[in-house]
Amino acid sequence: MPATPNWPPKSTPRLYIEHALALSQDVEIAGGSAHYLLGVMRLKEGAPVTLFDNMTGEYLALVSHTGKRDLIVTIQAKLRERESVPDLWLCQALVKKDRFDWIAEKSCELGVARFVPVLTARCVVDKVKEDRLQTHMIEAAEQCERTALPEIAPLAKLDAILKDWPEGRTLYFCDERGGASFGDAIKTGPAAILIGPEGGFTDQENAAIRAHPAAIAVSLGPRILRADTAAIAALSVWIAAQGDW
Ligand code: SAH
Repeated sequence: MPATPNWPPKSTPRLYIEHALALSQDVEIAGGSAHYLLGVMRLKEGAPVTLFDNMTGEYLALVSHTGKRDLIVTIQAKLRERESVPDLWLCQALVKKDRFDWIAEKSCELGVARFVPVLTARCVVDKVKEDRLQTHMIEAAEQCERTALPEIAPLAKLDAILKDWPEGRTLYFCDERGGASFGDAIKTGPAAILIGPEGGFTDQENAAIRAHPAAIAVSLGPRILRADTAAIAALSVWIAAQGDW
């Protein structure tokens, strides 16, 4: 059945598929997703699912075969093209796992193009599992009807990130010690927001960031925010300034 305003129903399960999708394609679903569709949602043959691939868009598929631990769905219609994503990166210093996962999830919902984990002197954590971040982002995108996922950059040290900074991308350095009001400082063009760890940046790091030609030190107001709050507040302000809010 073709897609109409009432079809597929709102309750239709939605899944990210790791390969490019196309009309009439049979897509095999196994593992945790199959368990969810068969065991939790109890889908039978003919039931609708929506799929997106982070490449070509979103599709309507119908279950064409159910096995014990896997199922096949067949793509019937294209529902949407992949959305365009604002050219915004979040450069986030590592913070404790749960809060870092939360930031990854929320930055996917809000629509960043790239999520860059940053290692700084005061980070209390020095590793990040990219696949875990990816899982959180996928779940957020599935639930929030996103058709695009942020790229996840490999963990890198602050000095290496500053050294290899791409030309033409403004680095908004969120600094609780003061800076231009973020809302007023936003320019057009590619952007990145840099947020420190729980303990903030060291004086040396602060000076190095401020000395970088792409950096603009900005304030998110007179209150010191926790890193996770600062990240989401800054993303929201930037997105609102683009008129994409
Ligand atoms: N320096 C503090 C707090 C760090 S808050 C301490 O000693 O504990 C964590 C990060 O959130 C900071 O590095 C900064 O990037 C961001 N942040 C928090 N409040 C902010 C504000 N009012 N303006 C700009 N950035 C802020």
